[in-house]
Amino acid sequence: MSVPLIDIKRQYMPIREEVDRVTKQVLDHGQFILGPELNKFEAEVGEYCNVKYALGVASGTDALLLALRACGVGPGDEVITSAFSFFASAGVISRLGARPVFVDIDPETYNISPALIEKAITDKTKVILPIHLFGQCADMDAIVEIAAKYDLKVVEDAAQAIGSKYKERHAGTLGDAGCFSFFPTKNLGCAGDGGMVVTNNEEIANLVKILRVHGGRSEYVHEIVGYNSRLDTLQAALLSAKLPYLKGWTEARRKNAARYDEELKDLPLKTPVVRPNAYHIYNQYTLAVDERDKFMAWLKEKQIGHKVYYPVPFHQQECFGDLGYKTGDLAQSEKAAASVVSIPVFGEMTTAEQDEVIGAIKEFFA
Ligand SMILES: *Cc1c(COP(=O)(O)O)cnc(C)c1O
Repeated sequence: MSVPLIDIKRQYMPIREEVDRVTKQVLDHGQFILGPELNKFEAEVGEYCNVKYALGVASGTDALLLALRACGVGPGDEVITSAFSFFASAGVISRLGARPVFVDIDPETYNISPALIEKAITDKTKVILPIHLFGQCADMDAIVEIAAKYDLKVVEDAAQAIGSKYKERHAGTLGDAGCFSFFPTKNLGCAGDGGMVVTNNEEIANLVKILRVHGGRSEYVHEIVGYNSRLDTLQAALLSAKLPYLKGWTEARRKNAARYDEELKDLPLKTPVVRPNAYHIYNQYTLAVDERDKFMAWLKEKQIGHKVYYPVPFHQQECFGDLGYKTGDLAQSEKAAASVVSIPVFGEMTTAEQDEVIGAIKEFFA
C-alpha cells in the first residue's frame, strides 16, 4: 500500500458542502478584496489565538515581510534568525535591504539556540526572528528576555505553527508580531496562497494595515510606499469555515505523532524532541537518520511519502554567498540538513497507513 506524505483532499471532502456554500456566497456578493468574510476571519483568528489584532495578507512570506517592515527593518539593519528553515524566513530580510544574521539551531528541536543569540547582536540589530519549525515553538522566554535587554523587537515565524503553544500561550502571540501561512499544506491551509500577521501592538497593526494597501491611510493618499498584499475574501471565507476543525485536526496529528514516538523509540533514529513547555502541532513529523540516502531509497521503494525539509541551510545558499559564511560555521544546521526526513503525519491518515509506515521503517532497521 502506498502512503502519501499528505493528502489535502481527504480534509476537504467531509466539509465540502460547507466550504462550497461560503465560497459561493463570496462569488455572489462580489466583494473580493477586503470583503466582510476577511473581517470575520480576522476576528476569529484573534479570538482563537487570544490576540488583539489579526490582519490577513497575501502569503506567509508577505506576513513576515510586512511585520518586519512594521518593526522598522530597512536597509543597513540586521535581523537575527536561524539558518535551518524554509527560504522565506531569510529571504524577506534581504528583500528589505537588511542583513540576515544566522545563528545555529538547538540540535534537538531544530529551533534557534537562544544561548547563541547574544553573541550575534550588534548595534545594527533590529529584530530577532525565531522560527517555530515543524510546529514546535522556539524557546520564547529566553528570546524575549534577550530582546528586552537589547531593546529589540521579536517577530515570530509561526508559518508552521498555528495552534502551537508555549506555556499555554499561542505561537505568534509571544513576541511583538507573529506570522502565519495558509499555504495549502500548512495545518490551516487555504486554496492557494494566504497569510496573516497577528500582534498586540497597535502601532504594528496600524502599519501592517496600511502596508497591505500600498501604504495609504486613505485611498490614493500615500505616506509610505507599501505593497499589494491582502488575504482574498474568498480565501478568508474558506479559512473561516475550516477554522472550527483545526483543533480536531491538530489532535489527530498529535495522536499520530504519539504513536510514532512509541513505535519508533527503540530504533537507531531520532524522533522529534518536544520540550515540556511546548504544545507541538506537528506540521511535520521529522526524523533524523544517519544513513538518510539509503533510508529514503527504502521509503521510496515501499511507496511511503517522505521529504527533506530542508536540505540546504541558509548560509550555504548561493544567494547568501556574499554574507561571508563558510561551511562549518553553523554545524548543527548543516548536520540537520544532512540527516532529517519527514514522514506522513497528516490527521486523515488511516491506522492501516500508519501501520504501513511503521512496518517499513522497522523493516529497514531489522
Ligand atoms: C510556509 C512557510 C513560510 C512562507 O509561507 P508562504 O505562505 O508559503 O509564503 C515561511 N516560513 C516558514 C517556516 C514556512 O514553513
